Amino acid sequence: MALFIANALKHRCLQSARICCFNNALNCLKSTRFVSNRCLQTQLLKRKSKINLFHSATEVSKFSIVENVATLRSFHTTRVNRIPAFVAFILRPLGNIIAVIVGRRIRNWWRNLPPDKRQAFKKWVIANKLRLTLYLSAFISLAYVYYHSHVEETPLTKRKRFVIFSPQQFNELAEYEHKMYLTQFNERLLPVNHPDCKRVEKVANRLLKANLDIKEIYEKKWSITVVNAPEIKNAFVLPSGRIFVFTGILNITSNDDQLGNVIAHEMSHAILGHGAELLSRAQFFEVFAICAIGLLWAIVPFDASAAFMTWFFRKIMDIAVHLPYNRQLEQEADVVGLQIAAKACFDIREAVVFWRKMSLKDKVEIEAMFGTTETPNIEFLSSHPSHETRAENIESLLPVFLQLREKCNCPKLPLLDPRDRFEQQKKEFERKLKEKTAKIIELSIPKRPPGV
Ligand SMILES: [Zn+2]
Repeated sequence: MALFIANALKHRCLQSARICCFNNALNCLKSTRFVSNRCLQTQLLKRKSKINLFHSATEVSKFSIVENVATLRSFHTTRVNRIPAFVAFILRPLGNIIAVIVGRRIRNWWRNLPPDKRQAFKKWVIANKLRLTLYLSAFISLAYVYYHSHVEETPLTKRKRFVIFSPQQFNELAEYEHKMYLTQFNERLLPVNHPDCKRVEKVANRLLKANLDIKEIYEKKWSITVVNAPEIKNAFVLPSGRIFVFTGILNITSNDDQLGNVIAHEMSHAILGHGAELLSRAQFFEVFAICAIGLLWAIVPFDASAAFMTWFFRKIMDIAVHLPYNRQLEQEADVVGLQIAAKACFDIREAVVFWRKMSLKDKVEIEAMFGTTETPNIEFLSSHPSHETRAENIESLLPVFLQLREKCNCPKLPLLDPRDRFEQQKKEFERKLKEKTAKIIELSIPKRPPGV
């Protein structure tokens, strides 16, 4: 069961938001003020003790914890019933099977019904249309009440969202998943004294120490695992705070500022509880999707066409409902990641350079594969915003977070802007990338001599 849940989590939790403060000027002001005040407290703490990290932080964070708990308590007007997380993993497959069976039975029952009985049934529906409308309204009202009784605010950005799982439930499940990944990558895990591990550990600790005012920091079991996989340019975090970094992304992050921005983004997903949020939302829509699939199988006359319509319906749901939401959460993690990195005095301008590098790398790889960089914009089919979109969004947020960095008494940033430096070195970087990705060696032969 644990393995089943862990596997299901693998596909659900990691689906990694412009909903947050920057779409809402009021929330933005609130959020920035919150971070700035705490930032000063953290600086005081850093001067006091750098060793007993979590113990010494308790006093400082007491106020924010009380403040946030009070906000959450006053927010709910009805009792919140958290459902066991494993229910989420059986709802979709079980619901689909039931929807198909029930839908087919209704279709066959209708098909085998004599014409006079069909007429009688139609008359019964017309006669009872008021009662049937009441039943439907009651179902929709119940769903509405359930939804609103499970709306809460995200930490830091104070965005309202629907969550049916408690962080504790989710953390426990994520721990199963953590063990599963450790087994999966066992052969490729770097020892903790490896320079790459030391580098990531130093960067992650710097982020944690500078953000002790965030109460969610204390609710996670933060750890770093570096996987020796140069071909994977990625990093991910589990809801419990376990961060996995692949050496592929370490090779792209040419300095600790870029790495700091990457790790801060991953930490933000865990702090904001995006895993539980995504799964909760998916489950809510799943109830309606199961009803729609049952209806499809009842109406569509053939199994093959009903199966195709179900697949098509799922794709539309993904493109129209789930993927845009995933991209919003990614953008929210980018925003909070910038806050976290700025408070830890990292050069957040390097985040723009990192995404520009990623974009350039993609272009070179596409060119090597297809011989052209002219590709259609398929961001709407992805769970993540494109690298260009991320670079642009982060660039537009820099003035706010550079101000925050200044308020945290951070050392002055280098005069040479890393974005300008990247523009100067872009051609060289592109040449090296092309060398790495090229698979065909073009041979040159001398000019054809006369008479040959
Ligand atoms: Zn992410």
